[in-house]
Amino acid sequence: MSQKPPSEIAREALKLLAERKLPPTPANYQDCYCEISGHPIMAAFPEKNLRKIALELSAKDAEQRELLDQLDAAISRRSWQDIEKVLPEFFRVVSSSPMVMDAGTAATEDGSATTDTAELFRQIARMIECVLPALENVDELFSRKVESLLRSLRDPAADIRSIQAELGEFSHRLLLAAEEQDAIKIALLDLLHLILENVSTLIVDDRWLKGQVDALLTVVRPPLDLRRLDDVKQRVLNVMDRQSVVRGRSLEAQEEMRVMLAAFIERLSSMNESSTTFQSKIEDSAKRIEEVKTIEDLAPLLKDVIQTTREMAEETARERDALKLLQSQAVATEAEITKLQQELLRASNSARHDPLTNALNRKGLDEALVREIANMRRKETPLSVALLDIDNFKKLNDSLGHESGDAALIHLVNVVRQNLRPGDTLARYGGEEFVILMPDTVQDDGIKAMQRFQRELTKNFFMAGSEHILITFSAGVAQFAPDESGADAIKRADKAMYLAKRAGKNRVLGG
Ligand code: GH3
Ligand code: MG
Ligand code: MG
Repeated sequence: MSQKPPSEIAREALKLLAERKLPPTPANYQDCYCEISGHPIMAAFPEKNLRKIALELSAKDAEQRELLDQLDAAISRRSWQDIEKVLPEFFRVVSSSPMVMDAGTAATEDGSATTDTAELFRQIARMIECVLPALENVDELFSRKVESLLRSLRDPAADIRSIQAELGEFSHRLLLAAEEQDAIKIALLDLLHLILENVSTLIVDDRWLKGQVDALLTVVRPPLDLRRLDDVKQRVLNVMDRQSVVRGRSLEAQEEMRVMLAAFIERLSSMNESSTTFQSKIEDSAKRIEEVKTIEDLAPLLKDVIQTTREMAEETARERDALKLLQSQAVATEAEITKLQQELLRASNSARHDPLTNALNRKGLDEALVREIANMRRKETPLSVALLDIDNFKKLNDSLGHESGDAALIHLVNVVRQNLRPGDTLARYGGEEFVILMPDTVQDDGIKAMQRFQRELTKNFFMAGSEHILITFSAGVAQFAPDESGADAIKRADKAMYLAKRAGKNRVLGG
């Protein structure tokens, strides 16, 4: 290390700077100073790294090239000041240039596309062809423009700037079309809603149709969800199938009843006719009895009367039996019609019930929530909601099979239902998740109720064949705040349920 005094080192450093023709920047001066004094170079100018970075940058036009040259010179001068000026300027120019692409995919000098870009353009062309059918009512002029755009996209010599302009116009048109289709969809939904509401007011008597209309009314409310639509479609188809069978049978039964009634009336009138005939016969006999003079003449008359009376009695007995038969048939048919009508109503209601467990489904739950929340607010009474999720259900399915899984779900629902209070509502919320609405219940009591169900499940094992299976569940309970929505309260219960799972399952937590 040099023992020279600092003033001398400084002088020599300046000399060295001049000899090497280096610009007198602080960094250059520091390098020379350290070299002469023998001090290790502190925080040397990172020329190598900067050159590496500069090499990675490529110019796509003359302006960018000029800036990269300036950067190169600034690095040579070791001038941070200039680097700080040139580098941001370079990136500003690059980002505002019409096409920003990687070095390998840039346009060539004459503005035409390189191989990678050409492939990208071919893909854009294919994408445009795919979305074209979505553009309804395309006019002649626009069709021609699209054709020209497609041609340009597939032409390797085409000018990128003009392609860009054409693409801009196309995407603008696409945007307009998307907006228009959105507006059409909303208008159609409004119209459908209106029609459905109208239908539902017209069918007050056909209760079995109301279930379907209600389901449709809920599902056509925007935003549309394809999965929800499909789900409701399947359910409505299901209900329609069952209804058409039940309805067919109901119509048959009604026809039977109509035929029987006709027979009844016919019987009654024929009874009336025969009694009129008998009556005139007897009147005739009575008249002849008055006119007889001798007892011998009376004997055949009496025989006649007895015969007529016997015939009358036999006829009456026959008619009475026939009528009795008709009557019992009518009663049976009427009972059948009532049963069918109830079945029809049940089929319609199934739009609100889960077919496997017969607990309410999501739609049924939504209706119950509206009702219970309104009650809670009106009566100012507490309302709690619980969300329960069976523990390790996937394992149960995997080891015992899906059918046993289904039976386990039914078992759980039965056990819970037997222990519910009459005002409580049980709904299947998802696969193995259930929601229980508990009116007049504060959170702590809700938790106790859920723990009671857990105890009941430990007493009532689920039987898979001869195997005893203990079903456990984790649950979260949340008491509604006065202005809280059903979705929000369920979300809180869900969070608590999740924490119960995290805490080791088979437990109930408050939300
Ligand atoms: P965890 O204790 O964390 O709740 O685990 P898990 O296995 O119960 O929960 P996970 O969500 O992993 O699996 C739920 C399983 O429930 C997966 C699915 O196959 C099954 N499942 C959903 N719906 C039904 C159904 O209707 N019947 C049957 N058998 N299984 C169903
Ligand atoms: Mg689950
Ligand atoms: Mg589960």
